[in-house]
Amino acid sequence: PDEPSALHIEDVDVTYGRAVSALRSVSLTVPPGSVVALLGANGAGKTTLLRAVSGTLRLHRGAVTAGRIRYGDTVLDGKDPVAAVRAGVVQVPEGRRVFPGLSVEENLRSGGLGLARRGRAEARQARERVFSLFPRLAERTHQAAGLLSGGEQQMLAIGRALMAAPRLLLLDEPSLGLAPQMVHRIAEVIREINAQGTGVLLVEQNAGMALSLADQAHVLEVGEVRLSGPAAELARTDAVRRLYLGET
Ligand code: ATP
Repeated sequence: PDEPSALHIEDVDVTYGRAVSALRSVSLTVPPGSVVALLGANGAGKTTLLRAVSGTLRLHRGAVTAGRIRYGDTVLDGKDPVAAVRAGVVQVPEGRRVFPGLSVEENLRSGGLGLARRGRAEARQARERVFSLFPRLAERTHQAAGLLSGGEQQMLAIGRALMAAPRLLLLDEPSLGLAPQMVHRIAEVIREINAQGTGVLLVEQNAGMALSLADQAHVLEVGEVRLSGPAAELARTDAVRRLYLGET
């Protein structure tokens, strides 16, 4: 049961409120244990797609109005975040949202809540995985999360998600606002998490970083998938080089 499954997003439409159409007929697959990157300009709908998968759309007054999202045999569209976490799908939200007044330890513990099915051994394993990926967090378990650096907070946000033992991790702009060296470190961490068998759906403005990590990539433009293919191939296309890799 802990083997990763494929995520299938099929012809999905998402609307916010009554009027705002954010995604139209979006289809893509994350094969078991692979890294898939989602590129696109601000407002293209990348965050919306992650929310649709993780069941957090409703918190933003959005809804999947057509199509289907499945992780393995589990239908995820229209479900809540608890259902997604139970299925093994966990989102790290944009902006490294940690609880600033809580300690590192308390933040991590909050990530394992809602997993009633999990035993203590599994919880301990998840914790050990987090501390071996992020030794700096292990040194700072009692420190308030708000006092960590930006990069450390991003690591804590990822660590908290890992406490739920995900089989598919949804990452929203993990490199945003971080210094180049920290971006590099985050990329290494994503590679390591994936090497341990966890699938990754990665939303990034930093197309260079995302394409270097991903197996497959998709470009979203105003709510629709415009380009899809192996990441190495997309990195060679003129449109991607010009628009997303900053080449002329
Ligand atoms: P960013 O990088 O800025 O997060 P994005 O590609 O993730 O961009 P989304 O945040 O998914 O894009 O936004 C897609 C569209 O949906 C945009 O037009 C946005 O204004 C709209 N939108 C997002 N959240 C809401 C909301 N809660 N209510 C109404 N419209 C929303």
